[in-house]
Amino acid sequence: MAKRFSPEKYVEGILAGDRVMLSRTITLVESRLPADQELAQEVINRILPHAGKSVRIGITGVPGVGKSTFIEAFGNYLIQEAGKKLAVLAIDPTSQRSGGSILGDKTRMELLSTNPQAFIRPSPAGRSLGGVTRSTRESIILCEAAGFDVIFVETVGVGQSETAVHAMVDFFLLLMLAGAGDELQGIKRGIMEMADAIAITKADSSNIDKAKAARAEYQNALHLYPLSASGWVPRVSICSALQHSGLDTIWKTIADYLKLTQGNGYFEKKRRDQNLQWMYEAVRQGLEEHFYAHPQVKQHLSDIAEEVKGGQKSAFAAATELLKLV
Ligand code: GDP
Repeated sequence: MAKRFSPEKYVEGILAGDRVMLSRTITLVESRLPADQELAQEVINRILPHAGKSVRIGITGVPGVGKSTFIEAFGNYLIQEAGKKLAVLAIDPTSQRSGGSILGDKTRMELLSTNPQAFIRPSPAGRSLGGVTRSTRESIILCEAAGFDVIFVETVGVGQSETAVHAMVDFFLLLMLAGAGDELQGIKRGIMEMADAIAITKADSSNIDKAKAARAEYQNALHLYPLSASGWVPRVSICSALQHSGLDTIWKTIADYLKLTQGNGYFEKKRRDQNLQWMYEAVRQGLEEHFYAHPQVKQHLSDIAEEVKGGQKSAFAAATELLKLV
């Protein structure tokens, strides 16, 4: 087990931008040991007043779309051209690999992973979506307090993780490939609807014309969606992470979005709504954990589940019976 320090020591380290302390605190947040959890909550409570001053950007797209190459290029662009400090977190509930996925092979973000202005933290391995979501949300706060003013949250898994990421970021960027149908890309309509911007990747050499055609196509598709409550009209652009082109346009899009939504109050409102949603989610998770940890439930769960499977009991009757045990 890792050495534990006093809450003050973690807080002090994080506020001083000490990356080792930041990593250690994230490890506490990810730990399932009750003592670690308690310590983590204490640190987070003290850190909260210092957090929040960043732009949180969700980045998603199917495997192979070029997410890690894009994050490497765009991240370095933000550090060099915009003078930002960047933290990259990932949501990858499917990952069983120890150490998670983004640094699983270090070469994927070679420059960023050695840049002192960047902090890269892989998704905790072998956790449920709920567990990963919770620790990522808390890690965002810790990174902000440590002075990182741009936070990328990357989804590695496809499916539900996009919704989880959308619920914790200010801006949602969807990466798409040119020339592949939506079905092929496994992108559901609902995910396109969540996007504040779409970037068509790999717009280089022989791919440029296809990328431009895709841009027009998606731009048309987005126009069919109802106007968002933010007043923002999603934009589509093309980029090449290999050639470092189109990155400035994407940053300009994000800056325009911030200007609009910070001006009309939507930015703050969305963060407050997300906080509230987070509270309910934490209550739900807590109840669920409490329920399954209850000795009576542990004792009877598998028998009752067998009865449901065998058709002797309805699902609803079984659930009622289980709930009464607690
Ligand atoms: P991920 O699975 O979404 O993280 O995708 P990767 O970043 O690993 O990229 C998948 C493949 O696409 C790799 O072979 C990359 O070299 C390639 N790729 C990524 N970005 C670009 C780009 O801008 N242009 C071109 N031509 N290839 C790219």
